[in-house]
Amino acid sequence: MVDVAVVGGGPAGLSAALYAAKNDLETVVFDTDESWMHKAHLFNYPAVRSVSGDEFLALARGQARDRGADLVDAEVTSVEESGEGFAVATEDDEYEATYVVLATGGDRSLAEDLGCDFTDEDVVDVTLDMETSVENVYATGAMGRPEKWQAVIAAGDGAAAVLDILSKEKGEYYHDFDMPSDVPEL
Ligand SMILES: Cc1cc2nc3c(=O)[nH]c(=O)nc-3n(C[C@H](O)[C@H](O)[C@H](O)COP(=O)(O)OP(=O)(O)OC[C@H]3O[C@@H](n4cnc5c(N)ncnc54)[C@H](O)[C@@H]3O)c2cc1C
Repeated sequence: MVDVAVVGGGPAGLSAALYAAKNDLETVVFDTDESWMHKAHLFNYPAVRSVSGDEFLALARGQARDRGADLVDAEVTSVEESGEGFAVATEDDEYEATYVVLATGGDRSLAEDLGCDFTDEDVVDVTLDMETSVENVYATGAMGRPEKWQAVIAAGDGAAAVLDILSKEKGEYYHDFDMPSDVPEL
C-alpha cells in the first residue's frame, strides 16, 4: 500500500510528487510522457528566466526522484475505490493507495470513471485544495480548468493537493516551510 498514487507526470503531478515524497509519504507517479510541456518553452515561470519544457520535466522528475518518489512509465488504466483506499491499475500491475492525485492534463476520463462531479463547463469540480467530490481523490492542473492552462498554476495545484493530504495525515494544517539552516552543507 502506498500513501499517494499520482497519475500524470506533468507540472501538476511532479509538483504533487515532490511535496509528498519530500514529506515522507510513500509516493508513486505513473506517466505516459505526453505532457503539453514537450511543446512549451517557459519564460513565465517565476525565478526561471528561460527553460525548455523538456528540461523542466527532466529537472522536476529528478527532483521528485531525489526525494524518494517512485516514477513508473506506465498508463493507469483504472482507479477504483477499494477497502481503505483505491486500487490503481496499469496493464501489468495493481497498486493500493490511500490517496490519489489525478494530474492527467486534458484527459479527465479517470475522474469520470471514479464518479467525480464535473462542473457546467465539463471540467472536474474541485475545492480550493483540489479535492474532488470523491473523498481523498484530487484533480490537479488542466483537468480542473476549462482554460487558464499555465505550468505555474498546475504546479501550484499539485502542491495544494498534497498540503491538504499532509494536513489530513497530521490532523492539523501543515506548511512545507524550509529555512536557510535547512540547506545541507556541501
Ligand atoms: C504549445 C504549448 C505551449 C505552451 N507554453 C506555455 C508557456 O509558455 N508557459 C506556461 O506556463 N504554460 C505553457 N503551456 C501550458 C502547459 O504546458 C500546461 O499548462 C501544463 O503542461 C499543464 O500541466 P498538467 O500537469 O496539468 O498536464 P500535462 O503537462 O499535460 O501532463 C499530464 C501528464 O499525464 C499523463 N497521463 C495522462 N493520462 C495518463 C494515464 N492514464 N496514466 C498515466 N499518465 C497519464 C500524460 O502523458 C502527461 O505526461 C503550453 C502548452 C502548449 C500546448
